[in-house]
Amino acid sequence: MKTEVSPDSPFSEIDRVYRLQKDYLPLARNTGVKERLVKLKRLKKVILLHRNEFQQAMYADYNKPAAEVDIAEIFVLLNELGHVIRRLKIWTAKHHVPTPWYLTGANSYIHYEPKGHALVFSPWNFPIHLTLMPLIYSYAAGNVTVIKPSEFTPYSVEVVKKIIRMVFDEKEAWVAEGGVAVGQYLLSLRFNHIFFTGSPSVGKIVMKAAAEHLSSVTLELGGKSPLIIDETADLKLACSFAATTKFINSGQYCISPDYVFVHESAKDEFVREFIRQAELKFGKNEEDWLTRDYCLMVNGRHLNRVKAILDDAIALGARLEYGGHVNPEKELISPTVLSGAREGMKILEEEIFGPILLLRTYRDLGEVIQTVNRGETPLSLYLFSRRLATKKRIRKEIQAGTMCINTMAVHYYNYHLPFGGHNASGIGQSHGFWSFCEFSNAKAVMNQWSPFNGIKLVLPPFTRLKKILINWLIRLT
Ligand code: NAD
Repeated sequence: MKTEVSPDSPFSEIDRVYRLQKDYLPLARNTGVKERLVKLKRLKKVILLHRNEFQQAMYADYNKPAAEVDIAEIFVLLNELGHVIRRLKIWTAKHHVPTPWYLTGANSYIHYEPKGHALVFSPWNFPIHLTLMPLIYSYAAGNVTVIKPSEFTPYSVEVVKKIIRMVFDEKEAWVAEGGVAVGQYLLSLRFNHIFFTGSPSVGKIVMKAAAEHLSSVTLELGGKSPLIIDETADLKLACSFAATTKFINSGQYCISPDYVFVHESAKDEFVREFIRQAELKFGKNEEDWLTRDYCLMVNGRHLNRVKAILDDAIALGARLEYGGHVNPEKELISPTVLSGAREGMKILEEEIFGPILLLRTYRDLGEVIQTVNRGETPLSLYLFSRRLATKKRIRKEIQAGTMCINTMAVHYYNYHLPFGGHNASGIGQSHGFWSFCEFSNAKAVMNQWSPFNGIKLVLPPFTRLKKILINWLIRLT
């Protein structure tokens, strides 16, 4: 089993860069859009130049296929970066808003100013874009940033670190490497904003630490994302998307479907078609999984975590519909489908975050809505249906951070949509303008340009006439 982890950055080094960034902050705040755009354009070029290096690093980290690195890491990143480059001038300009008539003589606008010193935590499951994307928005908004990637993908982090060094000075952006000790040390320092992508349990630690300094937080967390397939759905389409989104990255990502609710009349057909699609996409045996487009578990710890969920379910009576092949030596868990889960099984309580799909059946949509709403708010909700009323009902009655209808996971690629969860699946939103806002303070500005200031008519001393005016104002609301 792989044991490589990134080495810890010494605390003295963290302190040195922390102070350096703090001293530079007043200058960073005043950098112009032009200056920021120069670096962002350079970053885009440098990422493209390192495309092969990223592919090799991700293969070394956990056998991620090159094409998957291209679409799920490089394309996502460059796509958002291009959007930032095109929009930054607009985002940083004054955003004019209306001024009510009783404030005549003033105009109002929002000025997005940098929050200041930002700390970014990223997970191992997309170590390239989940590390560089928050940095892009942080820098674009005018912040200085310390980045703490996961320790579990050392090869990818090495390339990320190299790229950051090629484009940014350490006073602008710097990578602190290491595991929990480094993470905790960083959390003891005062940052103005913490952007964390990771698990809900560590998210709570981050939020507690942020409370000490009243730092703002963005928490991009995970959870159990449901997929619902009703009896009117195009089953072939649903199974094709479900097999891809469940088994790509070996199911190790936040918006992978955790469990599927299929109408009981379609259960057998679903199982047959889902398996057919899974085999078509990822192969049928160990040789296929190790050599084609399937990737491994990131390390032995995570393999054991997912295996424990599988073993627990089977020991307590769940049925193995498909797969279940585990090779600890190779850190491989094959595409797997389980059914018959019961209360008390880990698979119903924990985020699976691995290549196991839990199949559940239903008769009445009301049961599905109740079951999903009893759990924590999911990050993504997926529905396949041809019925308009069902689409409307699920959208209105199930709370979720994001939702896809008759498609899956592709909402992540639309930077015009906010991406994020609610409560246990996250706080705050990212992508596009939404990310820029997370790293900015929306400063409300009111500018009195006219010598006539209407509000003076209702300020002390409260004469009889002013009291009449106040009464009149209240009546007009
Ligand atoms: P994790 O929470 O274990 O780690 C995230 C980061 O926090 C890493 O950099 C890690 O080193 C650091 N960390 C871990 N424990 C810490 C501690 N006690 N104190 C300080 N820092 C600590 O998450 P992970 O295993 O790397 O990633 C998987 C999780 O991330 C899943 O729950 C998944 O759903 C979630 N995720 C969410 C999104 C999203 O966009 N919402 C994207 C990817 C992953």
